[in-house]
Amino acid sequence: MKIAETIGEVRTQVAAWKRAGLTVGLVPTMGYLHEGHMSLVEEAARRCDRVVASVFVNPTQFGPGEDLATYPRDFARDRALLEDHGCHLVFHPSVEEMYPAGAATFVEVCSEMPKQLCGKTRPIHFRGVCTVVAKLFNIVTPDKAFFGWKDAQQLLILRRMVRDLGYGVELVGCPIVREPDGLAKSSRNTYLTPQERQAARVLSQAVFLGQKLVAEGERDGDRLVQAMKACLLAQPLARIDYVQAVDSETLEPVHTLRGTVLVALAVYLGKTRLIDNFIAEGL
Ligand code: AMP
Repeated sequence: MKIAETIGEVRTQVAAWKRAGLTVGLVPTMGYLHEGHMSLVEEAARRCDRVVASVFVNPTQFGPGEDLATYPRDFARDRALLEDHGCHLVFHPSVEEMYPAGAATFVEVCSEMPKQLCGKTRPIHFRGVCTVVAKLFNIVTPDKAFFGWKDAQQLLILRRMVRDLGYGVELVGCPIVREPDGLAKSSRNTYLTPQERQAARVLSQAVFLGQKLVAEGERDGDRLVQAMKACLLAQPLARIDYVQAVDSETLEPVHTLRGTVLVALAVYLGKTRLIDNFIAEGL
């Protein structure tokens, strides 16, 4: 496995692979990797001849007062994990490599999508995500790129960006990987105190309850959301940011569940904000 710190090194390697007729899969990450990230790398290795993973804590997707400075980092460990799971090239650029002095160009989906759900508390987040992913696509020129459904709003916004800008990249969504007690794996879970970690089970309990209600035939979005909120409110350490059922195309709230619906939630445990969701399809 090779490590590249510059855009030039990545371009040279990918060009050689393409000359040899090999397909390239990209897995963008912010590092501090866990089994959720590894599931993306493994899927990329199944579907593509060569796998590129990026490890970059992207400053433009963090708002003022968010956890950019304290975001967990351990590149030595990430590198060993990636090598074990079939990655061929790790792109680990500096901030200056990705954003040269004076960088002033952003990629933004200018619809309601980035303003909904997490966009209400993180107004510049998805602009930063789209900008860095667009840039990674330009550098790596992958055939396919792999993203987790854990960040469903991110995946749906990136699908729109790819469509709107005509990127020839296929986005592959991978299922949420969970801890044995149901909590979706996340680099931010390390922020939780033991009590908060215990209490965090309530997020997946609310998701599983929502899935069960939909499976039993619930089609009233407001009633579904109320039931999931009641589940979350039973945990005194949890503070609800949002629970919403939204249209998977526009991300705008729906009152009747029809077609494909994203049911998403965000909850604070102390200072840590965690997210979870499920997709209800074929309704
Ligand atoms: P991050 O490093 O948090 O930016 O995540 C990088 C990629 O890994 C994103 O596409 C995430 O959706 C995905 N990911 C993170 N956690 C999980 C998880 N528990 N299950 C599946 N994918 C995940």
